[in-house]
Amino acid sequence: MERSTVFRRGLSSRCPQCGEGQLFQGYCKLWEQCESCELLFRREHGAMTGAMYLSAMMTEVVAALVSVAMFLLTDWSVRTGLTVGTPVVVLFAFFTYPRAMALWVSIEYWTDLKNGASWAKPR
Ligand SMILES: [Zn+2]
Repeated sequence: MERSTVFRRGLSSRCPQCGEGQLFQGYCKLWEQCESCELLFRREHGAMTGAMYLSAMMTEVVAALVSVAMFLLTDWSVRTGLTVGTPVVVLFAFFTYPRAMALWVSIEYWTDLKNGASWAKPR
């Protein structure tokens, strides 16, 4: 199985193994396992810690870019910059977190597949 297939399926909110089952049952609410191939999406407690790190990294980069852009392109006070920039960054994090979860499920599946884990059965 190609790496691009695994990540394309995951980032389109589909099971990275079969591409048929949905990853989410609601906003940021992951199914426990795939309804089609029964791949476990959350195999252990704290399995989404990696997704939180991914989301935090992306959000910190955006926060830095927004801060630099406001510093270079405006003459706003710090208070105005925080008033405008904070909601932008918070909204980015809100909309990015499901993508980070999907990316993390794909990363876990890909590494399990490459490590020959018994539950990773490519389809
Ligand atoms: Zn599946």
